[in-house]
Order: sequence, then C-alpha cells, then structure tokens
Amino acid sequence: MSTEFDADVIVVGSGVCGSLAAHRLGKAGKHVILLEAGPRVPRWKIVEKFRNTPVKGNPNGPYPDTSYAPKSDSKGYLEETGSTKNNPSYLRLVGGTTWHWAGACYRFLPNDFKMQTLYGVSRDWPISYEDLEPYYGQAEVELGVSGPDDADQSATGRAGTYPPRSTPYPMKAQPLPYMQERADAVLSAAGYRVINEPTARNSRPYDDRPTCQGNNSCTPVCPIGALYNGSVHAYKSEAVGVKLMTDAVVYQVEADGAGKIVAVRYKSPDGSEHRLTARAFVLAAYSIETPRLLLMSNIANSSDMVGRNLSCQPECHQNFMTSEALWPGRGPVHPQTFFTARDGEFRRERAGTKHVVVNNSPNDKIAGNLLKKGIIGPRLDEMIRDQASRIMELSTQHEYPGEPSNRVTLSTTRKDALGLPTPVVHFNRDNAYFLAGFEDTKRVYKRVAELFGATEYSPLTWVHPHTQGTTIMGADPKTSVVDPFGRAHDHPNLYIVGPNVLTTTGTVNPTLTAAALALRTADAVLHSI
Ligand SMILES: Cc1cc2nc3c(=O)[nH]c(=O)nc-3n(C[C@H](O)[C@H](O)[C@H](O)COP(=O)(O)OP(=O)(O)OC[C@H]3O[C@@H](n4cnc5c(N)ncnc54)[C@H](O)[C@@H]3O)c2cc1C
Ligand code: SF4
Repeated sequence: MSTEFDADVIVVGSGVCGSLAAHRLGKAGKHVILLEAGPRVPRWKIVEKFRNTPVKGNPNGPYPDTSYAPKSDSKGYLEETGSTKNNPSYLRLVGGTTWHWAGACYRFLPNDFKMQTLYGVSRDWPISYEDLEPYYGQAEVELGVSGPDDADQSATGRAGTYPPRSTPYPMKAQPLPYMQERADAVLSAAGYRVINEPTARNSRPYDDRPTCQGNNSCTPVCPIGALYNGSVHAYKSEAVGVKLMTDAVVYQVEADGAGKIVAVRYKSPDGSEHRLTARAFVLAAYSIETPRLLLMSNIANSSDMVGRNLSCQPECHQNFMTSEALWPGRGPVHPQTFFTARDGEFRRERAGTKHVVVNNSPNDKIAGNLLKKGIIGPRLDEMIRDQASRIMELSTQHEYPGEPSNRVTLSTTRKDALGLPTPVVHFNRDNAYFLAGFEDTKRVYKRVAELFGATEYSPLTWVHPHTQGTTIMGADPKTSVVDPFGRAHDHPNLYIVGPNVLTTTGTVNPTLTAAALALRTADAVLHSI
C-alpha cells in the first residue's frame, strides 16, 4: 500500500453488502477502511432490550437510536411527502438492517433480468442470470443459506431444480413446523406451488454459528446468531485486517476536477470533521442513505437518476381464524412460501407475487385485541388459547416497477443533529401494474380462507419492505447511475452496492441478489486497483 492514500479502498456502510465487499477486498490483501455511521452493539444487549420491551411488534424497536445516526423511524428524521407512507425500515449500527430481517434468500429467475424484452414492462438488466450465477453460489456460502436443492422455484411446473445452479445449497432446508406441514398439504392439493423458503439460517452448525433452535424471534433479533446478519462479515473483515471505524457518519464524497473521487469526509458524534483518501470507494449505506450521500455531495448524478425509481415490494397482510388448530409461532418466522404467480405471460399485465403463511407468534397481538374489547379474567385466558392456535396470517409481497417520480430527495428546511439535510421520501403506491397484481392476491386470499374453513377476517394492512432502486444499474449512463459492475457512470473509482442498484424488483426478496452483486463489484474493484 502506498503512503499516498489513507487506504486502498474505503467502504461506507457495514451492512451485509458493504461488509461482504470489505471482507473480500481485505482478504485479497488490500488495505481497507470500513466506515460505519452507527455504533457497535453486542447481540446480548439487543436481546435484553427486546426482552424488556412490552411491545414486540416493531422490528426497529430494540436497536440503537442515536442522534448522530438516526434510524429510519427516529422521531422527526425521515419526511414522507407521497400519498403512501413508505416507512422504509432501516437500522444504523455495525451489521446494518439484516439484524432484523427474516433471512429469505431466493435467487432471481433468468426471466427477471429481461422484463422489457420478454414482457414489455420495466427495464432489462445490463447483465444476465448467467453472469450472476457464480456469485449467487458464493453469496449463499458466505451468508450460510439453507434451502431445497431440488425445487422448481419458478413455480411454473418445471421438472427439477430451477433456476439453474452450479453449486448446491450449503445447508439442507430446515424441517417444517406443524402449521407449515398442514399448509403444504392443503395448498399443494389445491394446485399452489409450495416451497421451503431458502434462508440464511443454520439448519446445522455452520461458520461457527449454531443451529436454529426455533425461538421465533428472528425479526427483530435472533438471540443465538443462527440467523445471519451483516455483522458476521463486518467482524470477519476486522479479522482479515480491515479497519472498522464506527460512529463515523460520512457526509461528503469529494471528486477532483476530472471526476475522480479523491476523499470522503465524515463527522464524529461530537460534530468534529475528518477526511480520508483512497484509490477507490464503495458506497453501501442502503437505499435511502446512499442517494442522500450522493445528493449531499452533488456527484454521480449526470443522469438525474440518483434517488429516483425508489421501489420496494409492497406487502399486504391479512389474518383469518381457521376452523382447525394450526399452532403458529413454532420455529422460524418464514419457513415456507407459496407461489401462484411468480413468472409467466401474466407479467405483461400484472405484477408477480410471493405469498407467505407467516409463522410469527400471535399471542401479544391477540391479547391486545381482546383487551381492547374489554375481555378479562379466565375468559381472556381461554380466548387467547383458542385464537392463538387458530390464527393464520398471510402476507404477500408484490413486484413494483421503478418510477422516476417515486424518489428520495434532501430536505431544504430540516437538518439532523450533525447539521446535515434530512432525507425526504416521496412514494405513491398507485402503479396500475402493481394494482392488477394485488387484485389477484385478493382472489388468492379468499380461496385460501375457504380451504381452511376460515370465517373471520382482519382488515388488510401494508408494509413496504425491501427498499431499492435509488441508484439503479443500467448500460446507458443517461438513464442509470451505475454500470453493470456497480461502478458509477460518472466516476471511474466510485462503486455502489446494495439493493439500491437492482434494475428491477423481481418477485422475491432482494438481499441475496444484492449480496451477489456486491461480491461481483468487489472483484471489479480488485481488478481496478
Ligand atoms: C423487517 C425487514 C425484514 C426483511 N427481511 C428480508 C428478507 O427476509 N430477505 C431479504 O432479502 N431482505 C430482507 N429485508 C431487506 C434487507 O434487510 C436489506 O435488503 C439489507 O439489509 C440491505 O443491505 P445493505 O447492506 O445494502 O444495507 P444495510 O443493511 O441497511 O446497511 C447499511 C449500513 O450503512 C450504514 N450507513 C448509513 N448511512 C451511513 C453514512 N452516512 N456513513 C456511514 N455509514 C452509513 C448503516 O448504519 C448500515 O450499517 C428486510 C428488511 C426489513 C426492514
Ligand atoms: S427461529 Fe430462533 S434460533 Fe431460529 S433463526 Fe429465528 S430467532 Fe434464531
């Protein structure tokens, strides 16, 4: 390493994507600094806070909320101006947002990369499934994914494994809890395609982490580390010599007159400012904070696409009371998926979907509802026992096309505790393609309720997980922010990783794809320096 620079590579953000990239670069002998806005927090502290929180439902609940690096739901931080509250739920601490994820690790399908060519909607990716396939395999090994080797995950009735894989899952799929066994039997008989969800969760001891014990608190925290999160690679990075610097809020990426990035500037919690130089830079601050940083720095935006195409996978939830006892809440939260529309000609007209029979423990929700109705004493006890055994929660995430008007911008009136403009999210969930997909979801819910003899329904509720698209990948610098290797079109030594680079959302969770892309980008950085 030359003494001309503080590091060969500076990575901003120690979530799964930044930490995977830092680890790969550090392992290859590069001098890497990993800058993280939030603090280091040991798992036991998060678990203790979760145990002591009376309301368990907020995934962000047990995580630090510092004034210098606010998380998404910090009071007065993120402003929403669209007709739909997007509520992008993200964390700021070493390891990032996967601390409270469910761990679903699907690969995209080959067709997901060719949406415009095949179905005339959205965009084509500038890379193919085949380009990414080896990196999917590497990401599955790094994260420790357990999954079904022989499943047709396209749910289109293909014989054998699909999408094609050159390597097996590192671990076998976990056994299903009772409710999922019943759901498998009933839904399969009705013609739905049921799949054991591939997850970054240990079905045997793996990578010095234990086997899943079925504690069912995956979201917001796995108490024993059987579920992967980004801190695994943040700390592995340190072990291979990467310098992990916490409480370092990067607020500016500095370019020289020729467009080459020369430094990043960060603030410490006391407001002091620091500058670090490197040969190459990787931004990994996730889908709201990465565009915010680029906009604050006024770089990488000749296309005017930074912050635009903000997308997610709008996810509806509905509960039913089934006629039989299913006993949800045993085992991990998302052991199973069923597909009715993952891929096919229908995608010309409507969004693809992924349905889940959710396995969250329902007891606190049920008790709260009954108490609100004034039910107490032995009757309350009896009703909790009955309803907690019979409740079935369905959730469905929908593909959502990126639209330039859905976007992240900077506030012109508000600043955070460090004096930096706060992020503004503008999101309207009114896309006709998505709405047509949702109509299909309503039909599926009706049918599933009938199959389980359900009578009572709760109102539908929505969340918007899997924020993505705000620094979109494309071949054309006029309509995208990064090239097929994650390099900013405008700057030869600036790279961006995270779900924010995904060209389209697909019908499945994005993080495995983002992780595979991050490893591919890390290789591109290695070749460039
Ligand atoms: C409730 C929930 C469940 C989910 N479940 C799944 C799932 O089952 N499967 C799936 O695929 N995806 C899931 N996701 C999405 C998944 O969590 C994200 O895709 C993933 O965390 C993105 O990784 P990342 O590394 O890009 O960002 P993050 O994990 O958010 O990491 C970004 C890091 O950058 C740091 N940072 C931010 N700003 C700065 C700055 N200015 N300077 C320095 N550092 C900064 C942050 O502190 C953070 O540590 C879920 C999300 C939620 C909210
Ligand atoms: S079920 Fe429990 S042990 Fe298994 S991953 Fe979830 S929280 Fe961890």
